[in-house]
Amino acid sequence: MDITNKIAIVTGAGRGIGRGISLVFAQNGADIVVADINVEDAQSVAAEVEKLGRKALALHVDVTDQESVETMVHEAISRFGRIDILVNNAGVIGAEGWEDRDVSSEEDWDVIYEVNVKGMNRVTRAVIPYMKERRYGKIINISSQAGRQGAPDNPYAISKAGVISLTQGSATELAPYDINVNAICPGILRTPMWERIAVRQEQFLESSQGLTPAEVFDKNIRERIPLGREQTPEDIGYTAAFLASDYAKNITGQAINVSGGSRMN
Ligand code: NAD
Repeated sequence: MDITNKIAIVTGAGRGIGRGISLVFAQNGADIVVADINVEDAQSVAAEVEKLGRKALALHVDVTDQESVETMVHEAISRFGRIDILVNNAGVIGAEGWEDRDVSSEEDWDVIYEVNVKGMNRVTRAVIPYMKERRYGKIINISSQAGRQGAPDNPYAISKAGVISLTQGSATELAPYDINVNAICPGILRTPMWERIAVRQEQFLESSQGLTPAEVFDKNIRERIPLGREQTPEDIGYTAAFLASDYAKNITGQAINVSGGSRMN
C-alpha cells in the first residue's frame, strides 16, 4: 500500500468514511487535501493528518456547485502542484428530514442525484485534465452495497448503482492515459449517515420499532452481514490505499465490496 509522497484529494473528508480514508492515506505516506462542505470538520481532520507527519490542506467544497469544485481543485494545484489520487467520497442518504419520511420526496431524489452522481462526475471532470497531462492518476469512487441491489423506493441505491456505471465509463475513457478508476462498495458503518438510517428504520420498519439507534444498527449487522461485524472507516481506507497504490496498477473499472459478505457479486 505504498502511496508515499502522493497527493490525494478526499471529498466529504470531514467525518465518517472520508476521515478514515484520509487518516489511513496519511499513515501510508500521502499528503491530503481534506475537502468538505463543512470546513470546520475539514480543518479538524487536517490537523489529525498533520499530527501523523503529513501535509494537509483543509478546503471548503460543495460538490453540487461547479464554481466551488473548480476553486477547490485550483487551490489544491496551487498548494501541491499536482493531484495523484482522487477519492470521491462525499455522499448523502436524503434531503433534510429524510429520516422522518417513510416515502422519499422529490427533494430526496434530487439532492441524492445532485451529490452522489452529478457531484462525483463534476469533481472527476475538474481533476481529469491534471491527471491526463501527467498520464498518471488513481480515482476511487465510493459506491455502496446498496448499489448492488435495487430496493423499493430507494433513490440512494439507484444513485450508488449510477456510481458503478460512472466508474466503468470513466475507467474506459481514461485507460489510454494510464489512469485507474475503481469503486468501493462499503457495507454498514456506524457513521452520522447511518444514525439517520437507524432513526428512519425505528420509525417505519415494524421489526425495529422501540429500539435505540445502537440496537437498530446491531440488528442490521446480525441479519445482513455474514461475517457478523460492522465495517470501519479504516477498512474502507485500506482498500482505497491499495487501489491508489501501484500494486493495483492492472485493476480498473472494478467495484469492490467491503461489506463482510453482504454482497458477493
Ligand atoms: P457521513 O454523512 O458521515 O459523511 C459524509 C460527508 O460528506 C460529511 O462530512 C458531509 O459534510 C460531506 N458532504 C455532504 N454533502 C456534501 C457536498 N455537497 N459537498 C461536499 N461534501 C459533502 O457519511 P459516511 O457514512 O461517512 O459516507 C461516506 C460515503 O460512503 C458516502 O458516499 C456514502 O454514501 C458511502 N457509504 C456509507 C455507508 C455507511 O454505512 N455509512 C455504506 C455504504 C456507502
